Amino acid sequence: MDALKNLDQKGRVIAEYIWIDGSGTLRAKCRTLDKEKIESLADLPEWNFDGSSCYQATTENSEIIMKAVFYFPDPFRGGNNVMVLCETFMWEDTTYKNLIPTNTNFRHFANKIFESGKEEKPWFGIEQEYTILEDASKFKVKPFGWPTNGYPANQGPYYCSVGGNVCFGRAIADAHYKACLYAGLKISGTNAEVMPGQWEFQIGPCVGIEEGDHMWAARYLLSRVTELEGMTISIAPKLFPDWNGSGCHCNFSTETMRVGSGGMKYIDDMMVHFEKNHMTHMALYGSDNDKRLTGIHETSPFDKFSYGVGNRAASVRIPTMTINKNGAGYIEDRRPASNIDPYVVTGIIMDTACLQKDS
Ligand code: ADP
Ligand code: MN
Ligand code: MN
Ligand code: MN
Repeated sequence: MDALKNLDQKGRVIAEYIWIDGSGTLRAKCRTLDKEKIESLADLPEWNFDGSSCYQATTENSEIIMKAVFYFPDPFRGGNNVMVLCETFMWEDTTYKNLIPTNTNFRHFANKIFESGKEEKPWFGIEQEYTILEDASKFKVKPFGWPTNGYPANQGPYYCSVGGNVCFGRAIADAHYKACLYAGLKISGTNAEVMPGQWEFQIGPCVGIEEGDHMWAARYLLSRVTELEGMTISIAPKLFPDWNGSGCHCNFSTETMRVGSGGMKYIDDMMVHFEKNHMTHMALYGSDNDKRLTGIHETSPFDKFSYGVGNRAASVRIPTMTINKNGAGYIEDRRPASNIDPYVVTGIIMDTACLQKDS
């Protein structure tokens, strides 16, 4: 197979179109483009897929239209081949004149929020936690490195671990890291997590809509890398009740915070808005998040908002560095679950922090 990888493609590229299906899961298909090289989004034509096979449309009116929004070099095929993240649209009615965003096209709405708040240049950094599954069949979920029957030794030694008795899946985490760098994604780091077989990677700092684009692209690459090993990625927030869950901490700053001109008052005022909107946020911060936000395993309770300096049991942590510099820095929203749509979470944080006015 390796011998086929570097064959001449005779001046044509493969474009792998990627989209979010009706259930919020990634799907992809490929096409050949009669081009030596893709120079801009304009080189990537609109395309469609069978929405009725993606929990997104009926068989009679099955076409979902894809529009390219972000493309990057394909780490698997190399050369000039690309991967293309798309927004999805459906026809408003049978005149086939107007396209409207599909039920999972949250990018469309997040983009509008970011367009309104441009002057604050919002930065995001999301920490995606996930679990590598060796077995993901209907009746058995077995994380990589776990014994065939029962559970591994209690958690404690696995976080940022080294050694074959405590660290499971580094080859996957590292291949993914390199694939992201090759693709030009803003990956800022990786680490082994608290549950064996559980890992994290961070995407950031990214500006506005770029966070969602790079995060979805990185998730796609992670599933592709893992597939090569015959394994699966789970971003379920809580696989086992007594073990560490998976989150997507969302780090956030505005220009005012980075300059530090608003002092701690700026952040305290922002937290008032966060508190007011807590339950609205929780409705958008991932399904099954109530199973994860129990108040233990470094989490805050689901139904109560709090923020605190250096506090990993608060909803929002203010890093001690941010306090030391009198509000110059960022905040960490620890509430989002691992299965969030990053467009939704970055969009609502932007809206709450910058666009909601005091009444
Ligand atoms: P933790 O200490 O919570 O484990 P990580 O190092 O895993 O934090 O992740 C922090 C993330 O925050 C990184 O993606 C980083 O790029 C991002 N980040 C750093 N500075 C800022 C900032 N000023 N605004 C937004 N995000 C930031
Ligand atoms: Mn982290
Ligand atoms: Mn973590
Ligand atoms: Mn964190």
